[in-house]
Amino acid sequence: MKRSGFSGVSRRDVLVGGLALTATSLVGPVRRASAQTSLAIGDHEITVFSDGHLTLPMNFALPEQSADEIAEVLTPHGLATNALMPDCNVTLLRTGDRLALFDVGSGSNFQSTAGELLSRLEEAGIDPADITDVVLTHGHPDHLWGMLDEFDDPLYPQAVVWVPQAEWDYWRADDTLAGTPDERKSFVVGAQARFAAIEEQVAMIAPGQEVLPGVEAVDTRGHTPGHMSYAIHAGSESVFVIGDAISNAVISFERPDWASGTDQDRDQGIATRKMLLDRLARDQSKIIGYHFPHPGSGRVEKTGSGYRFSAL
Ligand SMILES: [Zn+2]
Repeated sequence: MKRSGFSGVSRRDVLVGGLALTATSLVGPVRRASAQTSLAIGDHEITVFSDGHLTLPMNFALPEQSADEIAEVLTPHGLATNALMPDCNVTLLRTGDRLALFDVGSGSNFQSTAGELLSRLEEAGIDPADITDVVLTHGHPDHLWGMLDEFDDPLYPQAVVWVPQAEWDYWRADDTLAGTPDERKSFVVGAQARFAAIEEQVAMIAPGQEVLPGVEAVDTRGHTPGHMSYAIHAGSESVFVIGDAISNAVISFERPDWASGTDQDRDQGIATRKMLLDRLARDQSKIIGYHFPHPGSGRVEKTGSGYRFSAL
């Protein structure tokens, strides 16, 4: 099957991004796919698995910023300025008799450097048939397309698949494909095919709902129309699975007011990001960022002019 790539990314852009990885490998960590038990609160045991990483050309990730503005933020961190290479972190929650995945990664038909979740689960001795619940943050390819196996059958056949109602409605609507720019139409076709294949497994989520025992759905729309984050509570402690509401461990924190090219509603994305950062800095909840450096867990700290991600 043809690789669809990320929206607006030409083969040349991906190549440029790939070269950037080589050029920056001296300052970046060696890419290693690993599972890491990173957090435990109360009776919840949380493990973060890597699905690999993506390449996003910078003019796609930050379409409204100049090269100078971007360099001013990224260069002090030793990061390349021509592309982002975000990790993809899938959270597994074991609680009581439930084994829940938050998002399912890219599968094998998106970018060649992602889609590793199944291998990582197998290495950890986890059979996909043992997953009781899949909880989706949103319907983008890197979060949803790993839902099916190589024969396009459900990869988690025993799981209830929890989908934010607004997200389900958006991707399934008759006019969504026609209203989507050409370079992102594959997102819609891909989401519709996967949602159709798992229709009998799906249960809807509303904001504020307790999805699993101690797991609260938090409305974080903007990145997509129904984007949802999840707060895993135990007593006074919480761990937030934030999905793509805060998508980059440097840019989103230092410049939450910058439009993100991956947000479908850029203004709402900014408003949600600021709201969430403010709340998380105040609460000192732990967070797991889907696209932060693996395993993506840490806390939000308020700084003079913005915020800072403090990795755990
Ligand atoms: Zn994503």
